[in-house]
Amino acid sequence: MKVKLPRFNKNTRQLVLYRGMRYFEEERMKEISSHDHTHVYEVKGEVNKYEVVINVAEDDTIVFSSCTCPYEDGGYCKHQVAAYFDILNKQGRLHLDEYKDALTLKEKHPAKPVPQGWSKEDYIELQKFNVSNYMSTFTKEELMALMVAYMKQDMKLFMYLFHHYMVEEEKNKIKGLN
Ligand SMILES: [Zn+2]
Repeated sequence: MKVKLPRFNKNTRQLVLYRGMRYFEEERMKEISSHDHTHVYEVKGEVNKYEVVINVAEDDTIVFSSCTCPYEDGGYCKHQVAAYFDILNKQGRLHLDEYKDALTLKEKHPAKPVPQGWSKEDYIELQKFNVSNYMSTFTKEELMALMVAYMKQDMKLFMYLFHHYMVEEEKNKIKGLN
């Protein structure tokens, strides 16, 4: 996917976007060199350091972007994201708040219990996660907005609700049950 530098979010997973944002705020990236529109960065991860190489065309298109980390779950990794923020910041055109609800790469919701690309740390967090407790912190409107957003990405919940609705409709037609 070819995207313009300020719109890199279109090719970044939401979770990765926010992690990259945190990396930027923690100043984990260091520009090693920059010439002929090619930027080389060293970005400090949780354990290792990775090298990010980015080439941006005159018209802002990201021509080439790579990182030496093992991430391969679709779109750019958090190290590249931290570097993009740094480039934009140095050019005096970074408005972080514009990325707060930015459009991101479509999430995959595989049926597998642990989505591909999740780290061991994420999996440990997942086991501690109490979904009912978390859901109780939302208002009905917030929950509905979340569900509708999810249904736009994945038909499964929509079809499940539709099925439930159809069953209820059928039940209402049966006099013996009313
Ligand atoms: Zn990376």
